[in-house]
Amino acid sequence: MNERDSESLAGFLRQMGYDEAASPDEATILLINTCCVRESAERKILGKLGELRKYKLADPDVIIGIGGCMVQQPGMSERIQKEYPYVDLVYGTHNLHQLPVMIEQCRSGQVVDVWNSEGEVVEDLPDRKVDGIKAHVTIMYGCNNFCSYCIVPYVRGRERSRTPKDIVREVTNLVAQGVKEVTLLGQNVNSYGKDLEPAINFAGLLLEVNKVEGLQRIRFTTSHPKDFDLELIQAMAKADKVCEHIHLPVQAGSNRILEEMNRGYKREYYIDLIAKIREAMPNVALTTDLIVGFPGESDDDFEDTLDLLEKVRYDNAFTFLYSKRSGTPAAEMDGQISDEVKKSRFQRLLKLQNVISLEHNRALLGTTQEILVEGPSKNNKEMMSGRTRGNKIVVFPGSEEMIGRLINVKIEEARTWTLIGKEI
Ligand code: SF4
Repeated sequence: MNERDSESLAGFLRQMGYDEAASPDEATILLINTCCVRESAERKILGKLGELRKYKLADPDVIIGIGGCMVQQPGMSERIQKEYPYVDLVYGTHNLHQLPVMIEQCRSGQVVDVWNSEGEVVEDLPDRKVDGIKAHVTIMYGCNNFCSYCIVPYVRGRERSRTPKDIVREVTNLVAQGVKEVTLLGQNVNSYGKDLEPAINFAGLLLEVNKVEGLQRIRFTTSHPKDFDLELIQAMAKADKVCEHIHLPVQAGSNRILEEMNRGYKREYYIDLIAKIREAMPNVALTTDLIVGFPGESDDDFEDTLDLLEKVRYDNAFTFLYSKRSGTPAAEMDGQISDEVKKSRFQRLLKLQNVISLEHNRALLGTTQEILVEGPSKNNKEMMSGRTRGNKIVVFPGSEEMIGRLINVKIEEARTWTLIGKEI
């Protein structure tokens, strides 16, 4: 979401006639677009803001601005004004579309403009520079869930959906510029459309986007298990461009911890949902997010998470050590876990998941997979790389003219993170 905002900011500046500078020394405007999901990021950003002072000293006409999630937190814009008085522009997440006006205004003095409420969804954001064959398309903003560890609902506001018409128009434009795969983006895409009239849900939106000619693949992220319904499973099975990959963050395997996290489901519900998904789409690839060391997580709670991993057998899991995020309820909870315990649990989780991931990849040996060719492999420039419909990276001999094509590759070698094959 943050990257998509950066693309919009760059687009506004391009519309104003600016171009990207090769380095900060050459820039006339320096903007920091912040993310505050992790507190460590916040410390880095403030350090960065301090470093920018030298550019202002070298040239007082340089504009220095900071915006995004971090600035949206109570007291933050005041702190920036006080501790970094040379900053010209401070704005929040809800008014980035006003960047051109704010840039003009700050030529005659500091501008601090942070909206407390989200306002209407703003359309007609500037066209972005399409880079490659894949693009993210925001379908909704904000989140209503208030998971107890998460700052997002406080800094991104409540859920607001874009209309299907605007989304389809954006996807059509991207395809005209060479995009082959879109990822539909929202904090919780499964609650898409609840605020729209006439009513449409995420399943309905997928079927609409599936009609865009020339588009080859559709992905989406992120799903919330509590809102993932059977209609969506059926739509995925029906819409040929929607890839058989679901990222379904579970966060923990213990009912007690799930409740403390305010996730709104129990492990039994989640395991049952996975069974229904696999019944409808036997080849689906499943991935998840897990938080290790949430406040109060006992050894037994952690064993429940390992047990859930054994039962669900994800293709891949993204594991995070719990880190305090001030401004969230979990930061005030008793029973904060020591770093040592968190790290040792993290290692156990990783070890188990690696075994399971390799098992999934080995099951693909000898099969033929449809790959969308993305470009040269990062680790071996002689080879090309692409992804299966299940989002697994496949490396194979090839050349750059294959980029953007769907090809069939026979899998000949399986590693934990990568598959290796040959076009057939
Ligand atoms: S669903 Fe929970 S974790 Fe995800 S953005 Fe909303 S509050 Fe944060």
